[in-house]
Amino acid sequence: MGLSSLEQWAQSQGQAAFRGRQLHDWLYAKGARSLEAISVLPKDWRAQLQAEPPEGGGDWIGRSSELHRSVARDGTTKLLLGTADGLTLETVGIPATDRLTICVSSQVGCPMACRFCATGKGGLQRSLAVHEIVDQVLSVREVMDQRPSHVVFMGMGEPLLNIDAVLAAIDCLCTDLGMAQRQITVSTVGVPKTLPTLAERALERLGRAQFTLAVSLHAPDQRLREELIPTAHAYPLEALLEDCRRYVAITGRRVSFEYILLGGLNDRPQQAEALAQLLRGFQSHVNLIPYNPIEEEEFQRPTQEAVAAFKAGLERRHVAVSVRASRGLDADAACGQLRRRLGDTLQAA
Ligand code: SAH
Repeated sequence: MGLSSLEQWAQSQGQAAFRGRQLHDWLYAKGARSLEAISVLPKDWRAQLQAEPPEGGGDWIGRSSELHRSVARDGTTKLLLGTADGLTLETVGIPATDRLTICVSSQVGCPMACRFCATGKGGLQRSLAVHEIVDQVLSVREVMDQRPSHVVFMGMGEPLLNIDAVLAAIDCLCTDLGMAQRQITVSTVGVPKTLPTLAERALERLGRAQFTLAVSLHAPDQRLREELIPTAHAYPLEALLEDCRRYVAITGRRVSFEYILLGGLNDRPQQAEALAQLLRGFQSHVNLIPYNPIEEEEFQRPTQEAVAAFKAGLERRHVAVSVRASRGLDADAACGQLRRRLGDTLQAA
């Protein structure tokens, strides 16, 4: 809930509107985890609320529980969180000088089943609600005791299968936590017909679409892409790129492309050339991601030479490119890995 909803809610409870402002301050600025913690509220009101839980069950104020914390030597902190209905999800805080990037999940599990992704191995449990997305940012902020500067929807799940909650969460992060839309990135592997919808709903919901859209491309041709991403079968590359162009036309924002580098498979010089060809005329940025090995697959990490050559091949053809530094490899770095290793055991306990 935002400020005005909290004020209205306080009033609907027979309280003054400023109680809503206090709630807002404690929930977002102070990160209160429960009603009891909000000591400025009248004691009898808190007691009354506690005695009468909301319709449909649950708590008036609640947070996901921290089930496990994994901290890498470089400070990268991965949290395994438990939802009220007993599911587990991952969120990661990635610190750097003067910034804290939080990688959030949009779903519990994921139905897209990309072959190199640990999350995809377990299928989808359900999409996350708005508060469960915002909760991840609050949880990492609390644990790392640092203000988040960037949020990327690159955790578990496919954000374009949960557009309304993702946009409402972005709204909350900006309006209630004071983040800037430009510091937020939504990453998608592509779901047919949803990119123009994302653009239009973003304009409706947020007034403008200034967050960055990152599209997980991973291959320069349809055949190889389908091999890595089975769902790409229903979404030819040309259609995906055409939707990206429509997204750019509606929002006026550039799109960036992610390209996972798998040793010997999609990291060859000819493939860099084909990728540059594919993206011709596109004002874009390519982010190369060296593969993080997962247990279930035999893919190889690319050699440093292959990464450098691939990058140089794109640069020679005037494609803006960066290589994502692997962070926190000792903290079950790959998407969904921590949850696959610990999730069920911990939640059962
Ligand atoms: N479903 C969305 C967002 C979640 S995945 C998407 O696919 O974009 C976020 C990024 O992590 C994607 O680019 C994905 O391809 C990448 N990724 C997944 N598993 C990985 C692995 N084992 N190594 C490196 N990158 C991986």
